[in-house]
Amino acid sequence: MQDLKIRKFPDPGLRARAAKVDKIGGPERAMFSEMAKAMYLSQGVGLAATQVGIDRQLAVIDVGDGLLKMANPVIVKKEGLEAMEEGCLSCPGMIVKIKRAKKVVVSFLNEEGKVVRLKAQGLLARAIQHESDHLSGKLIVDYLNPVKKMLLKKKIGIKLSGNNK
Ligand code: ZN
Repeated sequence: MQDLKIRKFPDPGLRARAAKVDKIGGPERAMFSEMAKAMYLSQGVGLAATQVGIDRQLAVIDVGDGLLKMANPVIVKKEGLEAMEEGCLSCPGMIVKIKRAKKVVVSFLNEEGKVVRLKAQGLLARAIQHESDHLSGKLIVDYLNPVKKMLLKKKIGIKLSGNNK
């Protein structure tokens, strides 16, 4: 596999909703490895398949506690709210303050294809929510307030597609 290239906003590929993974096999494990490599090379804390043009619900995260590989992540529980500034490898130079759940429970398939439920908080909970957004085509720019959205629209001269929930 060639080195993965991280797509940058406003690449339309970032707006795609990734397809669910049926099972985890050799190709998926290879994708996880390549994605982790791309994430570490870019010094990111997370990377979703949609960011590298792979149409699968796969994401890798490492907030400093080890590498987490998730397929088909679904957030099944959210608790609390906290606003924090966030960046994204696909939106270089942008920092957006985003309110997200403080704690989440996420259900996903791990590298062995087993269903895992993981409780997370802090930076990990935030990264899980950020990467889940990516897999449904949502980006940090969607959280900008209307004024900032308009400024950004003027700056880059395109229409931001509304993927707001
Ligand atoms: Zn991102």
